[in-house]
This record gives sequence, structure tokens and C-alpha cells, in this order.
Amino acid sequence: MTEKLYYNDPFCKTFTATVRACVQEKDAWAVTLDRTVFYPEGGGQPADHGTLGGVHVADTRERDGEVVHLCNGPLAVGEAVEGAIDWARRFDFMQQHSGEHIVSGILCGIFHCDNVGFHIGHDLVTIDFNAGLTAEDVLDIERRANQYIWEDHALSVAYPSPEELEKLDVYVESQVGKVAHDAQSYYTREGLNAKIIGGGGTVLSQIPAAGSTVPKGSTIMLYTDESAESDMVTVPDVVGKGGLVTNKLILNSGLNIKITGVGIENENAVAAKQSLPAGTQVARGTVITVDFADTTLRDSF
Ligand SMILES: [Zn+2]
Repeated sequence: MTEKLYYNDPFCKTFTATVRACVQEKDAWAVTLDRTVFYPEGGGQPADHGTLGGVHVADTRERDGEVVHLCNGPLAVGEAVEGAIDWARRFDFMQQHSGEHIVSGILCGIFHCDNVGFHIGHDLVTIDFNAGLTAEDVLDIERRANQYIWEDHALSVAYPSPEELEKLDVYVESQVGKVAHDAQSYYTREGLNAKIIGGGGTVLSQIPAAGSTVPKGSTIMLYTDESAESDMVTVPDVVGKGGLVTNKLILNSGLNIKITGVGIENENAVAAKQSLPAGTQVARGTVITVDFADTTLRDSF
């Protein structure tokens, strides 16, 4: 299997590798290496082009886990070669592909649909969704995607397991103005809990507010009367406490918890930092981020 350097460092442009095989195929030589930064066509993204040991790479494919470089000349098996990808071409694809994920994340979050196809073409990029969208919806998504880019979020690459996927954060959509019980079932479908406060039938305000991201299982407070302003709770002091105790303290205070750091499955995890200081008065349902550290690791330094 070729070591795929592009997964560890998407900004790597040049590399050195050893030629493992070189087979002539019609008018090209199919070269496999021990490692490569050449991205093979896949996932909607076209193949990288570039140079390898002085020959031109016109196409890159993946076959049975091996990355095959289709070159315009032969390379000697066992030799070390320098490779360089056509960075302008690749960077354009990276931007288009990241753009796809931003649009998909926003669109699927709102319309509860899936991205069912993606293709970067020569003149345009297409994304297929199994949802009915109006022209206005599309403009709204465009505005939100551009907003997201201007906010300059960090991108991370992750391969979550099905269990981890279950625990991923949920984007909170506004339910203000909706019938309270419809809003409640909406959040239930999203993997969240929702509590209706007050005797009105319509959601007047909600906490956490729309646009937040919260862990699955978090509770959204839906206010149907003016009680939101007076429904304040006190942030507890969790620094130095273990995972289970912290979790309980935050939930019992009527707050939501977001965990960062080592995670509370780690039995040595201790709360090192909390996003709001103990004693602060905040609206019920506010998300408190608690950063956990492994104390055994810290002690060993
Ligand atoms: Zn993708």
C-alpha cells in the first residue's frame, strides 16, 4: 500500500520516494511508489498532475490501495525520485472541495437531507442533494457559506468511528416563531432534548441560541412567555473535579456541557478550565465548555 502523504499534510507539495514498480500501459508508464503526495482521482476531486523523477505525471489513480502515477516516461525500479505536484491545480481543487463541505454542512443541517453526489469539473462544480430547494434557498445558503468563510474557521480532518459520530455536535437552528411542540419534536429528531417553558403556544426565545453547536443530548430551553429574562442560573465551580462529577454539577445547574481535551472516558481526566467562571449568572441552558486534562500525564513531567 502506498503511504498517502496528502492525508497527513495537505500543503505538502514536494517529496522524495522510492519507485516500487513501473509498467508500460498503452502510451503511459504506470509508476507506483512507497509514498506519494499525488492525490488520485476520487471523492469528486480530480487527480493531481506534476513531475516525478524528471517525467511528467498526467494522471493519478488509486488501484487496490496503491496510488498509480501515469507518467510520460519510464522510471527505474528501486531508485529514489523527487516528486512535485502542480500546486496551483491542486490548491484550486482543495478550495473547491472545502467549499463543498461548508455548503453541505450548512445545507444538510437546515434541510435534513444528504449530499448524494459531488463532482469538480473543468468549468463548474456540482453538488447533488436529495432535497427540494428554491432559488431563494440557494441564495440563502450561498450567503451563509460566504459568512462562514469570512469567519475564518479552522478546518480539521477527522475519521470518526460510528460511536464517535453519534456524539458529534449538532448545529442549533432557530425555532423562534414556531409552535412549541413542533419545535420540541424537531430538536428530538436532531438528537437533542427540548424543554418548553411557560404557557404560550409559540416559541418566543430559545437558549442556546440559533447558530450554536452543542453536543448531542444537550437540552434546548424553549420559552413561550417572557420568563426567559428571569430564568437565570449560577455556573458551578468544576475545576479540579473528575468527569462524572463535573457532568452532574453542570447538568444539575440547568446548564449544558461541552467537553474538550482528553474526554471524560479517560478515568484520569480532571477539569482544568471552564469557559465561564464559577458564580456567573447565566441563562438556563447556556453551554459551558469544560477542558479536561489527564493529570497522570501532567505529573510525569
Ligand atoms: Zn469530501
